[in-house]
Formats: sequence, structure tokens, C-alpha cells
Amino acid sequence: MEDVCIRFIDLPCRINGITVQDESGFYNVYINVRLSLEAQRAAVKHELTHIKRNDFYSLEPLSKVESF
Ligand SMILES: [Zn+2]
Repeated sequence: MEDVCIRFIDLPCRINGITVQDESGFYNVYINVRLSLEAQRAAVKHELTHIKRNDFYSLEPLSKVESF
């Protein structure tokens, strides 16, 4: 699996987590600390699934990419 750094930060309420890939291909995952612990874990899993599936290179519509 690629290099991933997971950080827990304060994000707007509607965002569970986001993944940002830097220019060297390193993934930075940001998880919203406002979520419950359980929801934070689910958000980590969700973002890691995107990375595993290479969704960032996918040309599929977001609604499809997000449907898991
Ligand atoms: Zn997602």
C-alpha cells in the first residue's frame, strides 16, 4: 500500500474526511475530529478504500465513486 499520513483535524461539519495527494504521490488523509470515534474510524476506512481503488485517477462520476 502507498504511503499514507492520516491526520485528525477540525473540518466543517458536513465533511467526514478528505484525501489529498501531494506532488510526490503521497496521500494525506484528513479526518474530521467532530465526528464520533466510530464515525472517524469509518471515515478512515472510506478514504483508504479510495486510495486502494485508485479513485483519484478514476474518470467515473463522483456519485459512482462515492457509492460504497
Ligand atoms: Zn469518499
